[in-house]
Amino acid sequence: MRIIDAHTHLFDYPNYLENLIKTNDEYGIEKCCISGLGKLFMCVDNEGIKAAINNYPNKLIGAFYIRPGENEPKDIKNAHEEGFKMVKVTIPRKPYDDPSFFPLWELAQELKMPILFHTGVVTTLNNAPEERISSWFMHPMRIEPIANAFPDLNMIIAHLGVHWNEDAAELIRMKPNVYADLSGAPTGWRARADNIGMTHWLWWSGAFKKIVFGTDVIFNQIPQILAEDKARLDKFNIDQKNQELIFSKNILKMLGER
Ligand SMILES: [Zn+2]
Repeated sequence: MRIIDAHTHLFDYPNYLENLIKTNDEYGIEKCCISGLGKLFMCVDNEGIKAAINNYPNKLIGAFYIRPGENEPKDIKNAHEEGFKMVKVTIPRKPYDDPSFFPLWELAQELKMPILFHTGVVTTLNNAPEERISSWFMHPMRIEPIANAFPDLNMIIAHLGVHWNEDAAELIRMKPNVYADLSGAPTGWRARADNIGMTHWLWWSGAFKKIVFGTDVIFNQIPQILAEDKARLDKFNIDQKNQELIFSKNILKMLGER
């Protein structure tokens, strides 16, 4: 089965990219969508991603990082011209659904670039109080007005909302253009949610059709995340067809690829 990791970051550690590619090759992950969130998240920046996708065009899909309130639509346009296929968004200056941000979402829709929205509480270097980061700006329901206004824009709610699982799940149930990933550290929200049982939130028939595989961990934890996700899908008897949607087809369709 083809596997695409829809949520990875390029950390600014020595040999990180080589280690990531090596891990993906070893575990049958064909490609990954990769973004750089800059120093605050111990990552490279968009320029670093540009270099990486040029070095590994068949293994990496570039996700352009924007911080709403600091980026303009023209940044997304330039990124698209430079080969970025997706947009990654976190730590907005105002809530995601602030009307002043709508031109960003409108352009992403026009360029057919899916958006990966961080939702829930964030971890940054030293908490960065000067950045005035608020998870309330990144509540899953902040995505509802965007989903309504831009029906052809495909969106992924990262981490199924972290601690707002119910809101994230109900939104993906109700909105055809909203999906979620179950990414995150093995000991984080996933441990809690798996302990209760992910079907507590993903309760309806076909819920897993709206899930996109993503890891969002350091490269050496990727094998564990992949194994846990495979085991979970088997446990819930998710059939081959639906597993294909989760592991590759959903994200490829959003990217306009096959
Ligand atoms: Zn992330």
